[in-house]
Amino acid sequence: MAEQRVAFVTGASRGIGRAIAERLAADGRHVVLCARSEGPLTDVRAGIEAAGGSASTCAVDVGDGRALADAIDGVVKERGRLDILVNNAGITRDGLILRMSDEAWDEVIRVDLTSAFIACRAAARAMMKGRFGRIVNVGSTSGLVGNEGQANYAAAKSGLIGLTKTIARELGAKGITANVLAPGFIETDMTKDLPSDRVEMLRQMIAVRRLGAVADIAAGVAYLTSDDAGFITGQVLCIDGGMTMV
Ligand code: NAP
Repeated sequence: MAEQRVAFVTGASRGIGRAIAERLAADGRHVVLCARSEGPLTDVRAGIEAAGGSASTCAVDVGDGRALADAIDGVVKERGRLDILVNNAGITRDGLILRMSDEAWDEVIRVDLTSAFIACRAAARAMMKGRFGRIVNVGSTSGLVGNEGQANYAAAKSGLIGLTKTIARELGAKGITANVLAPGFIETDMTKDLPSDRVEMLRQMIAVRRLGAVADIAAGVAYLTSDDAGFITGQVLCIDGGMTMV
């Protein structure tokens, strides 16, 4: 039997990241669940184990680069490998450009973009050693087409594309792929406070006329991180129900 692949998933306490973690575990990976606090991660882990999967927890703030790199090094030491990295943790601090503070800009760039750079750098060595790696950076359609009130978020998500394409070029020969998965409008905590008229307007812009579910994104990550996806790298996969079609 092939050895179990180890996946590190950030933002795994809820929403899209939780669904990704549960799906990867259901597909037979050992999943290291990362978010800021232990409590919610322990619940996710319990659910995965109850379903017959394998998971461990790693409470770390991805905005703290040193702590994040140490956490990944720790996983490699403990498990002896790291095969899959999903940089999914993300935040928004929306505001129109004229009113956006330096702090709101810096925080989103640090959590949504710099963390991915640090995690990829930390994971790359172990992946090179294993001559196998699957990196998925969770972007957003905002990073492709922009979005009013999201200069910081769109810049961070757009930055992920350049980071990912460069990693794909630098590490492809080592068996490592890197792709961006760009969700459209998905029902999670991040989007739950939008006014209902705005949600209806968005629904009308989506070709399949429904909002996305977290499972739609998890299915994409499961594929991009599978052994079958070794010839796909440096791509941006939009899972948005046909909202942008870029
Ligand atoms: P969410 O429900 O708000 O969940 C965010 C996750 O990130 C939580 O697990 C949170 O955990 C974690 N997180 C936030 N800040 C963190 C930090 N500093 N360190 C570690 N973990 C942190 O968001 P979501 O909707 O699932 O979004 C997940 C990803 O998809 C994000 O990158 C987002 O930009 C992207 N996305 C979402 C949508 C959408 O429509 N929902 C659309 C496009 C892209 P704790 O709070 O427990 O730390």
